Amino acid sequence: MAENQTPLMRQYTEIKRQHPDAILFFQVGDFYEMFFEDAIRASKILQITLTSRDKHQDNAIPLCGVPRHAASSYIHKLLAAGLSVALCEQTEEAGAVKGKTMLRREVTRIITPGTVIESALLSPEAPHYIAALWPALQSQNKATPIGLAFLDLSTGDFRCLTLSHLDEIESELSAIDPKEIILTDRGGLSPAWVSRWSIRQVEASFFSPSQAQTVLNDHFGAYTMARRENEAGPAWVAAGGLLGYVRSTQKGVMGSITALRPEMRQGIMRLPARTLRHLDILGTTQKHTLLHLLHATRTPMGGRLIREWMLRPLSSAEAIIARQEKVALLHAATSVRMQLRTQLDAIEDMERLVGRISLRAGQPPDFIALKKSLAALPGIEKIISALPLLADPLETWDRLDDLYRLIDMAMVDPPPHTLKEGGVIREGHLPRLDELRRFQKDSRALLMHIEVAERKRTGIESLKIRYNHVFGYFIEVSESQIKKVPSDYMRKQTLARMERFTIPVLREVEERLLGAEETLLALEAEAYTALCVEIAKHTARVQKMAQRVAALDGWAALAEVAHRHTYVRPNITTDRVIHIVDGRHPMLEQTELAFVPNTTLLTPESCQMLILTGPNMAGKSTYMKQVALIVLLAQMGSFVPAREATLGVVDQILTRMGAEDDLTRGMSTFMVEMTEMAEILAQATPQSLLILDEIGRGTSTYDGISIARAICEEVHRIGARALFATHYHELTQLSETPGVRNYHTEVRESENGIIFLRKIREGGADQSYGIHVARLAGLPDHVIKRAEYLLKDIEATQQQVSAHPCPDPPPHPAHASHPLIETLQKIDPLHLSPMQALQRLTDLVHEAKSEHPRSPNSKPPP
Ligand code: ADP
Ligand code: MG
Repeated sequence: MAENQTPLMRQYTEIKRQHPDAILFFQVGDFYEMFFEDAIRASKILQITLTSRDKHQDNAIPLCGVPRHAASSYIHKLLAAGLSVALCEQTEEAGAVKGKTMLRREVTRIITPGTVIESALLSPEAPHYIAALWPALQSQNKATPIGLAFLDLSTGDFRCLTLSHLDEIESELSAIDPKEIILTDRGGLSPAWVSRWSIRQVEASFFSPSQAQTVLNDHFGAYTMARRENEAGPAWVAAGGLLGYVRSTQKGVMGSITALRPEMRQGIMRLPARTLRHLDILGTTQKHTLLHLLHATRTPMGGRLIREWMLRPLSSAEAIIARQEKVALLHAATSVRMQLRTQLDAIEDMERLVGRISLRAGQPPDFIALKKSLAALPGIEKIISALPLLADPLETWDRLDDLYRLIDMAMVDPPPHTLKEGGVIREGHLPRLDELRRFQKDSRALLMHIEVAERKRTGIESLKIRYNHVFGYFIEVSESQIKKVPSDYMRKQTLARMERFTIPVLREVEERLLGAEETLLALEAEAYTALCVEIAKHTARVQKMAQRVAALDGWAALAEVAHRHTYVRPNITTDRVIHIVDGRHPMLEQTELAFVPNTTLLTPESCQMLILTGPNMAGKSTYMKQVALIVLLAQMGSFVPAREATLGVVDQILTRMGAEDDLTRGMSTFMVEMTEMAEILAQATPQSLLILDEIGRGTSTYDGISIARAICEEVHRIGARALFATHYHELTQLSETPGVRNYHTEVRESENGIIFLRKIREGGADQSYGIHVARLAGLPDHVIKRAEYLLKDIEATQQQVSAHPCPDPPPHPAHASHPLIETLQKIDPLHLSPMQALQRLTDLVHEAKSEHPRSPNSKPPP
């Protein structure tokens, strides 16, 4: 194949050989083309036509292509399918080198699912992380610490930490939500991980500790790294390995990454992945999530920060109160808040704009968007000067006006979309550029002049000077006027109805003009690059101000939410108390018109655990989630949906609710429930908040009750605050233990069944009303009647033999045995003559009439 390849395909094959794992986007003019296997794979995913090069040949090459200007949506689809894309660009202009047919091409970047920076491929209000784990999980025995590093290349947010438990890692990853995870070995990954995350195995050399250290030293400076030696360990190796991998995809340009932050876990509330799911915190599509409710920020940075606050609530009372104070200030100062939010609208994604520019991926409009955002900074400074407490006492407000001027003086506004169009650099920025532009203008005027003069000299009225890419400048004369062409005209090209000529003076101007054009574009490109480099020097400053803006936006958003939904500021304490007066479920109250508020009181002395009984649908789960959500909101510094609240900080919220079958691990509902319960009991501390919903429902009643009760006792022993919902009234006996109290959801019986009042009252429920709920749900009448019959029977049996653990269901009347039935069962009608049949019937009727009516179970008289 290689011998008869065209030069283009030879070039392709050579480049593809270096990037076997990525789909190679090979620029050919205005298209990216894919060949061979890449074309076959990509055409399927992208749903584009698969054709072939040299169709008529036997060994035709599979080919598909996408237009360059629309490439991002195609790249997006390939990344979503877990693939990477290597962008191979023409790195010289067509026609730049005369007579050269093969253009130079280079891979300028490899885009992997986790290293995307194009705004069209990012969601503005969520970070876009790539994560690395080291060592790989398979080598882990339970005690091996694991390093986790994660990086958002678009913003430069780069952090690392060391973890010791697999479920800790899972919780972290759930909050980080990485778009790509890299590690050195895929062994030991659970199928659940593989289906959930895009996981890539990379060369182990990235993660050799010495290599990782070298990469970190190269990027951050050996001096800085040396001072941080005590932080080393698996986290460091993970960070160095990740940085090395990203460097290989970026071809070395990593200007957006200005710092590596060791992630602190002290002072942060633990929110396991399961809690996030159970409390509807994130969600991707549903609207009724906490994230959606808090989505009141005005800038993308603010949106990302509030998400971070929500996923990592604080657990130090001091830190919570400090954040609360800012929110409270902006809550009280309504007009400042409104002005601030209006001013914030003028700020675009400074963080990602400067990130893209310093990664050399910025387009001219990015610079102008950054400039406009910077222009809004002084206005914000002025607004918040009314509330000095909002200022950071340690850092002055950086107006970044030098950077503003830098961009303003260098670039035209509005700018062209790409550098290639030319005209990006502003007049006055570069004298040489201005000179060339002036020359260009003069030359064009000169051309006009030549045109007029030639018309006059030849007498050809329709004579025109024109230009095209292939032939440059020429004089065009139509066929009918050819006879008038003077002898000094040199023929350039003959067309159907016209001829094209040149003359020495035109050739001279042309040469100078084309030369100028080339120099001009080169100069502009140079000035553009210089501007990128200059801005990149200030990346860290811009990032810092972006964070300041994000914080202001976040505080203002929490204040706004508090104002909109009439939340109150909770008192934060370190006592193990939860006192919520008339609390509401923050999301449900938005949709439920008649939402019923409820009070909660947990204290270490009188009520550490609350046992909640009541029928299904009465509001037990809602009530418990509401308490957990209020605690979470409070610890992220927000106000809470209640009339009044005093909350002692919790170190983690652990939840067990609903039936989530883990089919991927092949476990039954009950097994999942018990596994999760075991984890919760292992993790709970006296500072934790536990939400346990219907524990033990996955097994038989008496098993369930016993397990639920034993778990209650254990939670009580640990001393965690807990809400425990159950429809087993048997559990209400636990209230004999000090610190455990019964509550129930109130229902009222009416003629047509029951009405849920959704009110929580002290005391256990006396009935479970399951059958009432079944009726409400529309189960057929005769089924309900039968259930009522069975229930009465069970209750009667239980009263008679209360020692018996699990009563057998009462037999149905139709199945009872009776001598007459036994006789009937022995008759085979097909083997009887009509006479015999009549005789048997008469006997049976006689026998039946001679008997007393009896209960189905009693024995016949002897
Ligand atoms: P349970 O867990 O007791 O079966 P849920 O908490 O799931 O009951 O509540 C069932 C439904 O009742 C909810 O979907 C909601 O529509 C409604 N509900 C629950 N609590 C309230 C409340 N406090 N005010 C109004 N409606 C509520
Ligand atoms: Mg429930």
